[in-house]
Amino acid sequence: MRTTGKRKYKTFQLFNKSREMPVKQTTALYHLQQLDDKLAATNKRLSEIADLLDQNTVVRAARSSLEQAEQDYHHWQTCQKALEKERTQLKEEAEQVEKRLYSGNIHNPRELTDLQDKLAELRRRHAEREEPLLEAMFALEESEQSVQTAQDRLEKVLAEQAETLGTLRDEQAKLTTQQNSLETDIKQARAAINAPHLSLYDDLHSRLRGKAVTQVNGDECGVCGVQLTSQLAQQVRRGEVLTCPTCQRILHIN
Ligand SMILES: [Zn+2]
Repeated sequence: MRTTGKRKYKTFQLFNKSREMPVKQTTALYHLQQLDDKLAATNKRLSEIADLLDQNTVVRAARSSLEQAEQDYHHWQTCQKALEKERTQLKEEAEQVEKRLYSGNIHNPRELTDLQDKLAELRRRHAEREEPLLEAMFALEESEQSVQTAQDRLEKVLAEQAETLGTLRDEQAKLTTQQNSLETDIKQARAAINAPHLSLYDDLHSRLRGKAVTQVNGDECGVCGVQLTSQLAQQVRRGEVLTCPTCQRILHIN
């Protein structure tokens, strides 16, 4: 019984309060503006975070450096193998020619000269490949170092990013919660405003880059700085929904 009595009393109080002190439309509009500002800032940051999570340019750059280093390594590896193979073949060929040349079976002077020329040619070609082979071996060693450096760099970047990405995801989760609660608050704030004022607000909000309500400081419009007439300021103070004669925004005075 006592509980019911209390409840009745509470309801009466709320009703009474709302009848005695109705929320001024200008206050409600100003409150809505503040919530919309907060939501806009939240949405902006959420979209920045989405971009950051998406781009990941640092990781991409480190990965691409590693790929390049690996490509270089494979290039020099192939080069070295090809040169070594060629030199082995030339050496074997030269040995065979040499064997024939000194076998004692060649008597034709022409054939002897030909074989000597061939042997010299094979030896020359074999020697010619020594310098490029050394270069390839040196480059291979260097590129192996580069691969190692790039691998270390990528690992470091990935570890750093894991930390940054973790922080960003935490912030994203918090902001998403904030976004939801702001949307609820905005719904409630809009419910406290009558239809013509709400439609004025929405129109100004979309036309004036999200700023539909201006706070009056002293007797000056907080956005455009125009001095309001004392009559206009008085009307606004009484709670009338009026707009700034210069920037068109709904005027609000605390
Ligand atoms: Zn103004």
